[in-house]
Amino acid sequence: MIRFDHISKQYRGTSRPALGDVSFEAQRGEFVFLVGASGSGKSSCLRLILKEERPSKGKIHVLGQDLGTISSRKVPYFRRNIGVVFQDFRLLPNKTVHQNVAFTLQVIGKSRGYIQEAVPDVLKMVGLEGKAQRMPHELSGGEQQRVAIARAVVNKPQILLADEPTGNLDPATSAGIMNVLERINAGGTTIIMATHEAMFVDQMKKRVIELSQGEIVRDERHGGYGVTAAIPLVKPAPAPTEPATVQLTTGVVVPVAAPARQPAATPAAEIPAAVRPATTPAAATAAPEPAPEASPADGKQPDNVRPITRANPVAHPAEMSLAERLGLRANGTDGGDYDDQNVGPVK
Ligand code: ADP
Ligand code: MG
Repeated sequence: MIRFDHISKQYRGTSRPALGDVSFEAQRGEFVFLVGASGSGKSSCLRLILKEERPSKGKIHVLGQDLGTISSRKVPYFRRNIGVVFQDFRLLPNKTVHQNVAFTLQVIGKSRGYIQEAVPDVLKMVGLEGKAQRMPHELSGGEQQRVAIARAVVNKPQILLADEPTGNLDPATSAGIMNVLERINAGGTTIIMATHEAMFVDQMKKRVIELSQGEIVRDERHGGYGVTAAIPLVKPAPAPTEPATVQLTTGVVVPVAAPARQPAATPAAEIPAAVRPATTPAAATAAPEPAPEASPADGKQPDNVRPITRANPVAHPAEMSLAERLGLRANGTDGGDYDDQNVGPVK
């Protein structure tokens, strides 16, 4: 479904490659963690999958297509098969939850009737039932990320890319997000998630590809995070009292240290332009209800919710420019209809 063949990537003006001779294949339905220190090449891999960057050497196949053969004009259509979630959520601040999720469907020309059915379904799936009319600022960080996930999967992409999706969230909230991602994966969506969160990677026992200075140093089917000594400390300090626990749907109980940590700095240059998806068979809507975090709109801000600070200047782009960033429009010329055959057969 995703195949890297001897991929090297050297950005212009840099002296050493960001990726060097990276080869791997992710099968349909897999959940793959991309781990490694900051600068090891995780986001570069995700951007290459989206065709936001081109490899300097090697070939990438995604959904049966050689990315080198997709013309720029067709890239937005290609990207509709791939949902993307970022560390900083990137919601439209002046739209409700419903409107944020509906937005991507509107841009790709889905009918009103379709949108009216699809949005509530996906909001329920991510645990935001009853919050459709909230504004983003009325939501906790975890809820905002759930909206972003709902937006990323509402038109059932075959692949979901997540670039440090829990990087701005405290551990308990992150566990809820991981539950949602697990459920989406259980519905058949292939997930590639870049992360620093050793705890989840260790607990979830999914495939782990570890990068170090642009090279794969580990590829394990049911891995853990591995040696964390070289990786910046992102785990919170141990809780002073008995730690709370969170049950993942895998049945794994994750200890949760209480206080929030500082948000990880996210250089704007590191964040790929967003994307948007399309057809997948499996709907992940039949899953059990998650337990969403308490929202500040429900009352007092809970201890486990850290206010979201947005340093990123591109966090609130104008809507149409967001659509372009989301890969939904081809330079503003995109209509509603498109040919699904643009994307090759599922492998
Ligand atoms: P990670 O996501 O693991 O932190 P990245 O893929 O963002 O790693 O970066 C890998 C390397 O490529 C780093 O050395 C980074 O500085 C460099 N890099 C990433 N994006 C660019 C860019 N647009 N231009 C130049 N260098 C870049
Ligand atoms: Mg990164």
